[in-house]
Amino acid sequence: ESVFSNVVRAPEDPILGVTVAYNNDPSPAKLNLGVGAYRTEEGKPLVLDVVRRAEQQLVNDPSRVKEYIPIAGLADFNKLSAKLILGADSPAIQESRVATIQCLSGTGSLRVGAEFLKKHYHQSVIFIPKPTWGNHPKVFNLAGLSVEYYRYYDPSTRGLDFQGLLEDLGAAPSGAIVLLHACAHNPTGVDPTSEQWEQIRQLIRSKSLLPFFDSAYQGFASGSLDTDAHSVRTFVADGGECLIAQSYAKNMGLYGERVGALSIVCKSSDVASKVESQVKLVVRPMYSSPPIHGASIVATILKSSDMYNDWTIELKGMADRIISMRQQLFEALQAKGTPGDWSHIIKQIGMFTFTGLNKEQVAFMTKEFHIYMTSDGRISMAGLSSKTVSHLVEAIHAAVT
Ligand code: PLP
Repeated sequence: ESVFSNVVRAPEDPILGVTVAYNNDPSPAKLNLGVGAYRTEEGKPLVLDVVRRAEQQLVNDPSRVKEYIPIAGLADFNKLSAKLILGADSPAIQESRVATIQCLSGTGSLRVGAEFLKKHYHQSVIFIPKPTWGNHPKVFNLAGLSVEYYRYYDPSTRGLDFQGLLEDLGAAPSGAIVLLHACAHNPTGVDPTSEQWEQIRQLIRSKSLLPFFDSAYQGFASGSLDTDAHSVRTFVADGGECLIAQSYAKNMGLYGERVGALSIVCKSSDVASKVESQVKLVVRPMYSSPPIHGASIVATILKSSDMYNDWTIELKGMADRIISMRQQLFEALQAKGTPGDWSHIIKQIGMFTFTGLNKEQVAFMTKEFHIYMTSDGRISMAGLSSKTVSHLVEAIHAAVT
């Protein structure tokens, strides 16, 4: 008998499990709207041209070797990543008060940040929005932080529960960590306006809460890298401290390369360099040092003004296709006369639409129409195309009537 015979089977991940179920469905009409990855109009994964070119350049460079890179990752990559999120003229960068560490995509950056906070920050409570990306509570719990929720989404308006948010953060203990989605909140697609961000900033600073930004969609939401970094930059502009987890999964399409960065913005360069030395102690026993390939692609693109420019064009192309899918889905529901107000589809931003469909309706759409999505009614707009909109509309119509 196995020494592991007492191990019970774990459930599939609620998000990744959607794709497992999709793969097992033999129907030719099946549609996967669960996956948080970009698809072309033809429903295919996309490798950006500029990424192919950067890879070609790397492959053709005989001086490149496979040596270990430093614990903190590639220095160029780190510098350019901080510049990308904070802006080229950021005083925090000029004053060398940002510690940036290359990490394993967004998830790894969140985890390393959380482990650092658990060890070196006086407050271990972290407030995360309700709802949020399903992995957030798991990442922070495992790092030893205590997770609490702040109100975020109001199902009755399908918009932001701004009053609830202010009340809950206003009642948070002093110093508490606050997880903020930098843009394109997942799963709701609901972001604060810039006036609301300003009020959130004032509240957070007045209570000495510590902001931890999750930036998984910079440029992917609006099509503009600067617009999508607005929230983060206003918090850095006030001179205060914060953490930022950056992912290149969506905006460069580097999902499986696992490339991201953790930046910790500090009050002084002295603090930042000490902080960086301690973050390295978090990384060393976890995975020693990060992989080279993905970060080299990113650094190659960010370093070259030509490639950078080409990237912004391809990035905008992806964002625009998603925005156009919102419009097409909304118009098709209107044309069909599907009951209900569907204007939230065009008001929400980013990869996902939080449809408002309930668990039973989602199960019905999967069973009768072979449409796969998370049970909270979240659909990936990136998984939709002009050809599949009508199938989705049929399914939604049948589910709500
Ligand atoms: N944070 C949010 C809000 C996300 O939606 C995602 C990906 O879906 C991530 C972080 C992390 O993704 P990755 O680890 O692939 O960069």
